[in-house]
Amino acid sequence: MLRDADIGPGRPPVPNGPATAPSLVDPFGRSITYLRVSVTDRCDFRCVYCMSEDMAFLPKRDLLSLEELDRLCSAFVTQGVRKLRITGGEPLVRKNVMSLFRALGRHLETGALEELTLTTNGSQLGKYAAELADIGVRRVNVSIDTLDRDKFRAITRWGDLDRVLEGVAAAEAAGLKIKINAVALKDVNEHEIEHLMTWCHGRGYDLTLIETMPLGEIGDDRTDQYLPLNTVRARLAERFTLEEIPYRTGGPARYVRVAETGGRLGLITPMTHNFCESCNRVRVTCTGTLYMCLGQEDAADLRAPLRASEGDDLLNAAITAAIARKPKGHDFVIARAGGPSVSRHMSVTGG
Ligand code: SAM
Ligand code: SF4
Repeated sequence: MLRDADIGPGRPPVPNGPATAPSLVDPFGRSITYLRVSVTDRCDFRCVYCMSEDMAFLPKRDLLSLEELDRLCSAFVTQGVRKLRITGGEPLVRKNVMSLFRALGRHLETGALEELTLTTNGSQLGKYAAELADIGVRRVNVSIDTLDRDKFRAITRWGDLDRVLEGVAAAEAAGLKIKINAVALKDVNEHEIEHLMTWCHGRGYDLTLIETMPLGEIGDDRTDQYLPLNTVRARLAERFTLEEIPYRTGGPARYVRVAETGGRLGLITPMTHNFCESCNRVRVTCTGTLYMCLGQEDAADLRAPLRASEGDDLLNAAITAAIARKPKGHDFVIARAGGPSVSRHMSVTGG
């Protein structure tokens, strides 16, 4: 039996180059070209909006092995996925995860995959940035909600800002393009967003702001955290010129150019805007569950077809059948009295 450590560049390349790549098209005519893969639900931080401090993680035996994750991702690439984002939990705390990146890097070499990237809390970037760049990763998203050490510790509970900033510096030194993600939190970082933006733009990093989404029980009342980004935007507009730009990634972010800094600011507003009409993505968890929409419960199990045979026919058929069920859109509501509108955590589905 193959172990996680056995995967490597030895698997044959995917035969479909970009010219012939088939595409997965959902019932609303949207081509699915972007896959986010959560490779672990574990994390070395405990961000207050993401999980409770005593979060119960999945038993390790439920997780797909790295070889299975490689097979799964490669099946999507064969079916036309052009962008792959590795996420979690914290993807870089999964043991041996670099062997998965290296294995997936072969699709960059063949041209079947346009982009291999990751979202990380940055705690392990100092260790891995150079290797990621060597594999062909060109961009990284790093989550930093505040540049205040104490506040950073309070938000992440276990995180060390200096270590994360060292990781960002290592990524920059390795030539990776950096985007900082920050969740806008009422009373917590809402008055620091201007500072975070000028810090990012001064270094040539994009900044994307995210509204809190009601995913999973976190042991707190989310209405205390929710800060609508139209409020943030209106405040920024008092001091900066925000120019609408047509830049799109097929995801929920809308972008503006900040004239004074020359930098790009993304706004992810699932609660105040509907972004579903251009959705090109699906998400798969570390147990092989495919979610066709971040904001809906409907899911397809890909682990059973993956494990049922060594060939990929069953897996490919399960993927096609699932995409045929992709819903038109989500329906997030932060209800004051109710629980989360989607019960799984972001760390399970991947951000
Ligand atoms: N651990 C990595 C990180 O923090 O970047 C990757 C996974 S994390 C779940 C991905 C992104 O989701 C992070 O930027 C995080 O801030 C964001 N996030 C987590 N829970 C969220 C929530 N309930 N609402 C909005 N964003 C959330
Ligand atoms: Fe971990 Fe990322 Fe969730 Fe924070 S947001 S607890 S870093 S998975």
